[in-house]
Order: sequence, then C-alpha cells, then structure tokens
Amino acid sequence: MSEGNFIRESGVTRVVDVSDEDERNFLEIFRDKFQGEVKESLEIEKTPEILELINDFNKNLKQFFQRYGVEWMEVPAGNIHLLDLSSLSEEQKTRIKFDGSFKSIVQHLVLIDYSDKDFSALAVTLVHEMIHFNSFQSWQKGQRGAESLPMTNKETNEKLFLNQRRQGINVFDVNGRSFFREIDEAVVTELAIEFDQEFFSKTKGLKDEVALRDQIFSEAAPDPSKRRLVRKIIEHPENEEDRRFQIFSYKYGEERKKFWEIVKEIFEKNRDEFTTEEDVFNLFVQACMTGRLLPLARIYEKTFGPGSFRKLGEETKK
Ligand SMILES: [Zn+2]
Repeated sequence: MSEGNFIRESGVTRVVDVSDEDERNFLEIFRDKFQGEVKESLEIEKTPEILELINDFNKNLKQFFQRYGVEWMEVPAGNIHLLDLSSLSEEQKTRIKFDGSFKSIVQHLVLIDYSDKDFSALAVTLVHEMIHFNSFQSWQKGQRGAESLPMTNKETNEKLFLNQRRQGINVFDVNGRSFFREIDEAVVTELAIEFDQEFFSKTKGLKDEVALRDQIFSEAAPDPSKRRLVRKIIEHPENEEDRRFQIFSYKYGEERKKFWEIVKEIFEKNRDEFTTEEDVFNLFVQACMTGRLLPLARIYEKTFGPGSFRKLGEETKK
C-alpha cells in the first residue's frame, strides 16, 4: 500500500505479511471498530467536565504532536470509557491492575473513574492513554489466539488470523510478549508529563491545582529538572511553622530513571550527532509515534555495541 495517500481511519496504520487486498480489508475492520460503539460493564456517563477535558486534550495534543512532526489523530469521546468501581468489593478492586488501558484490538480505551477524588490523576492517565492511541500500531499475519483478530477472505474463503506486531516501541512476538515495553511506557509517560507541564495550567478544571503545585514547587525545590518527578503537591495546613506537604509522583518512576540514563549515555557518546539530550529523546518519540525503529536501533548499537538493542528489548519486555 502506498504510504503517500494513506488516510488513518483508526489507530492502526499497517497490516503486514498479507496481500494488499487483505490489508485493506483488515484496515476496514479496524476502522469499524474505531467507529463502532462499545459499552463496558461498570461504565458510567461522562460528566460535562470530563467531556470538556477530552475536547481540550484533543485540541492541545494536535498542537503538541505538530512540534514533534508526527501525525495526530483525534480520539473521540465515544472511544473513551469511564469505569466506576464503587459497586465492586475490595477484593475485586485489587484484581484490576490498571488506571487506564488502551488495546489496539478494540480501538477504544478505558479509564478507572476517580475524578471526584483526584481529577488531575484522571487527566494524566487520560492523556497517557490518548498518546498510546496515537502511537504507531501495526498487525501481522499470525495464528489463532486470545488476542488474535480473524478474517475470512471473501474470494478464497481462506481464514486469516492477525497478531499484534507493534504498538509504539513495543515489538510483539507470536506469543503476545512485548519487547521494549518499559521503554515504551517511559517515553509515553515522559510525553504525558511534558503535556501536563505545558497545557494543564491552561485547562479548566486543572489550572487551580496546577497553580498550587507550581507555586509550592518554585518555593521548595526550584530546580526545574525535578519537575518531571512531581505530579501533585498537597499542603497540609495544620501547622504553620512546620509546613507539611504530601507529594504524588508520576508513574513509571524506575523505568523513566533507567530510560534517562540511556538517553544521557547516547548523548554523551554521540555529541557529533546530537546537540542536546532532547534530540536523543526525540529519536525515541519518533520510533514510538511513526514506528521507525531503525534510526534508534542504529545509534543504540553504535553506543552500546552489536546486539545490544535486541538485549534491551529482552530486558524491558513484559
Ligand atoms: Zn501506558
């Protein structure tokens, strides 16, 4: 399929190892999933505040992604599902291991609703999942399995199964394991943080909280590089002489720490190719959003030696 006139009608950009015709048919299936209605159990109506947040984030993400020169796709409110866990028992709740989740096979994302307790936490999770949605997604000819997508070729009656191939920097094998998972999460979280630091202060429903965070932060810890660590600060006003704060961090702290060590080392060893660490970060962003892993793999192997990129994928898989 020629890349030039491709219009992204769902999050999925490519289907590989199948004929052009099968690829078109599969992309139509993903388009129908993207446009289709899904009703999750435990799903609740979105409040006007949340609908406004989704609308603002879509607009701002467009501007945000333009800066990285990557294609942007709107994530309609109908593709975002809020789940209310209050009817579940404590035991059932502990079995749910995510705040938000996006699956390429459904083309919809789900978020746990805790907006009444912590609206900005919901906002960070929302933008994180919207970035996953926008990141590169491809599928490949594979085998029947829990997460496979079937299709029958109308002419040959041949039954085909697709397995996920890529999502962001994730590379999947036939068993559904995803290599580079931790790197992908680090990059997506860093993008969400950057988005937060720039746009949350301009977003209704978030600006008051962010103003307080920024004010306390500039008084207590003026080092701007530390801002990537702190999502939220609450001041407990009981004691005026001894100010007490409760600090909430962004997710994937360990993964992001390791990730920045990699970025720093690539930068230090390739100063002829990069002006700033941000340039190296941008290479990871490009890999995540466009699916082009080769430029990243090349510089990684140049820095850490032959075979090292594959090893990184192994070490960061899930
Ligand atoms: Zn994630």
